[in-house]
Amino acid sequence: MDIDISALPSPCYIVDERLLLRNLEILHSVQQRTGCSILLALKGFSMHSVFPLVGNYLKGVTASSLFEARLGYEEMGKEVHIYAPAYVEEDFDEILGNCDHITFNSFDQWKRFKDKVKNFKTKKISCGIRINPEYSEIETPIYDPCYQYSRLGVTLPNFRPAELEGIEGLHFHTMCEQNSDTLERTIQVVDQKFGEFIKTMKWLNLGGGHHITRPDYDIETLVRTITFLQDKYGVDIYLEPGEAVALNTGFLVATVLDIVDNGMEIAILDTSAACHMPDVLEMPYRPNIIDAGKPGEYPYTYRLGGHTCLAGDIIGDYSFRKPIKPADRLVFCDMAHYTMVKNNMFNGVNLPSIALFSEEGGIHIIRQFGYQDFKTRLS
Ligand SMILES: *Cc1c(COP(=O)(O)O)cnc(C)c1O
Repeated sequence: MDIDISALPSPCYIVDERLLLRNLEILHSVQQRTGCSILLALKGFSMHSVFPLVGNYLKGVTASSLFEARLGYEEMGKEVHIYAPAYVEEDFDEILGNCDHITFNSFDQWKRFKDKVKNFKTKKISCGIRINPEYSEIETPIYDPCYQYSRLGVTLPNFRPAELEGIEGLHFHTMCEQNSDTLERTIQVVDQKFGEFIKTMKWLNLGGGHHITRPDYDIETLVRTITFLQDKYGVDIYLEPGEAVALNTGFLVATVLDIVDNGMEIAILDTSAACHMPDVLEMPYRPNIIDAGKPGEYPYTYRLGGHTCLAGDIIGDYSFRKPIKPADRLVFCDMAHYTMVKNNMFNGVNLPSIALFSEEGGIHIIRQFGYQDFKTRLS
């Protein structure tokens, strides 16, 4: 870490533009080699100050709601795709104005909004259906769109070929932080089950969960799989990763407020698992901290907790080479994705500031939050 963290407010998310560019270049190379289109899934990373940069490399964004779609339309201005498990009637006219592709989760939703799409004359919108191939390799049900009774996507027995008139694409999303071998096996199932319908489509969207920018990701298998689909079906291929765009590009800088003892030493920080890194509790996972190790790896072990009143607001147990003390700063790694988009002000805890580091500009503090942000979400 060559960024001067003492120049930052605390707590603060900081995204390193150099690392983001590295990811974007990898994703761009996949587009160049295959002719596929890669979209940023805003659900995972919506730091709109970098959308112009992302837009230099990717084809656009994919949204899960009207607000995300509008953000992508306004701040990036490239292709906007949307998928949601169900659309709200009152939102739909504005969705039409902001989106290029609309994917429906059921044939009934498609029937409900079909005429609105047809009658929308400003531009042509391409519509798709999300399918559920009932094949995934995800162990955690909360992240598995193919678990029993999943509401996400149409299964083969429920697929209605007679209602496909006007549908130009199929969409599936069945992966989470996975390598291309999983994609290759998934494609075999999709091909076998839905191949006869893909034949009649213009595009196939392979969803997100592709960990393309991870060091051990096998890009050759991804390229081969995309090429297979293009050759067999003549369809345009879309990928919509969120995590892979922002993977390992950001940090959360926090400060130790106090150390207490209750059977072990516990450090209380000015950040919170519950508010600022909710996936630590939800996934759950253990973020890395620069210069810290697993419990017992270095001489001084602490449990790190947040400053909310939630008993379980615990980030994890970490060890350090030297004792830590109030005012020390800690740097949590890989904090760009699924953090800013999920954070909250539970307990009236303020949100971390948001900063960007760039080669030319150094540290730029983009946004700081305060009492008004807390108050205006309540009434
Ligand atoms: C969550 C999601 C994505 C992005 O997933 P990542 O794991 O962040 O790559 C893409 N498409 C759909 C439909 C999603 O629900």
